[in-house]
Amino acid sequence: MNDDISDLLPALVALRHDLHAHPELAFAEHRTAGIVAAALRELGLEVHEGVGGTGVVGLLRNGAGRSVGLRADMDALPMVEQSGLPHASLFSGVHHGCGHDGHTSMLLGAARQLTRTRRFAGTVVFIFQPAEEGRGGAKAMVEDGLFERFPCDSVYALHNWPDLPLGHAQTRPGPIMAAADRFDISVRGRGGHAAQPHHTPDAILAASQLVTQLNTIVARRIDPGESAVLSVTRIEGGHSHNVLPAEVQITGTVRSFDPDSQDRIEAALHDTAQGVALASGTEVEVKYTRYYPATINSAAEAELALAAAADTGLQATVAPLPAFTSEDFAFMLEQRPGAYLWLGQRRLGADAGLHRPLHHPCYDFNDAALPLGIAWFVAVAQRALR
Ligand SMILES: [Zn+2]
Ligand SMILES: [Zn+2]
Repeated sequence: MNDDISDLLPALVALRHDLHAHPELAFAEHRTAGIVAAALRELGLEVHEGVGGTGVVGLLRNGAGRSVGLRADMDALPMVEQSGLPHASLFSGVHHGCGHDGHTSMLLGAARQLTRTRRFAGTVVFIFQPAEEGRGGAKAMVEDGLFERFPCDSVYALHNWPDLPLGHAQTRPGPIMAAADRFDISVRGRGGHAAQPHHTPDAILAASQLVTQLNTIVARRIDPGESAVLSVTRIEGGHSHNVLPAEVQITGTVRSFDPDSQDRIEAALHDTAQGVALASGTEVEVKYTRYYPATINSAAEAELALAAAADTGLQATVAPLPAFTSEDFAFMLEQRPGAYLWLGQRRLGADAGLHRPLHHPCYDFNDAALPLGIAWFVAVAQRALR
């Protein structure tokens, strides 16, 4: 069963508040990475800095055996914090609105606990990644040779999850977070007089038809048993009541879990755009960007993640559905078997009014989740390196 970690908590809560007050944006986590590297060195770990930009890797070896990667993200969001808390961000426009300050503190806590207990055989690879929020820091670390330089037989991560009550944890085999794609479409006519529409292809009308047709792709081209979503989020063109504009821009996002569905949606989007172009006489240019793949847990590791959660006294259940948000830990799970856990952090009882969703201007990581996440990381390492 779980060892006592309560003596570690005061320093870790202080660290979490310090990180919260000094948030740093993607690939600029210099102060945070420095604190992490110093803390790992103090424990006597082998430390590598500058992995994939501002990433830090610490190695804790305890004899021969397998190796397991434990990952935390370090970056904050470009948004203004409005919490008014004593440890609120000191920098306007940068806010730890996703709780990565909590993740970093929990993984450092796990490093402390595993260093002093050492009830495992093999190597624990502590992975502190930059730039999770839309910039692909996990991909940068993978491309910098993360798993060649620091071999991991499996890899695990968690995210605090305000939708789940404190004391609960969930994951599932297979997809848990969606692939996130973005499309940018230019619809071009020649532009002309609104009263002489026969002189130019109408980019506004073509763009309108395209938006309508794009909204049929998921409904008509994807197996109803699969989940996917396509949303058009921006349409822009024209400046005057009597001028037909030469160009209209359309932007949107696609979320999916199954790579086949993702391929079909992208192909259908190109077909639809070319069909509208042909019918309207416009030129349509599509830029389709896949920025995060789906986060897909391997079955055995998802089971281990739940068993480790149960070891620590968490109420661990299989998540009934994946979430349509995305997560760049997906890039690590493309390389190694592993699992991603949702750690409940919804405040209960008298604190219930403090509940905020992720990315809310008043969001603050729930410090009561710190010992739970530390214990989970420790239990994962002990189970994976038995
Ligand atoms: Zn986030
Ligand atoms: Zn996050």
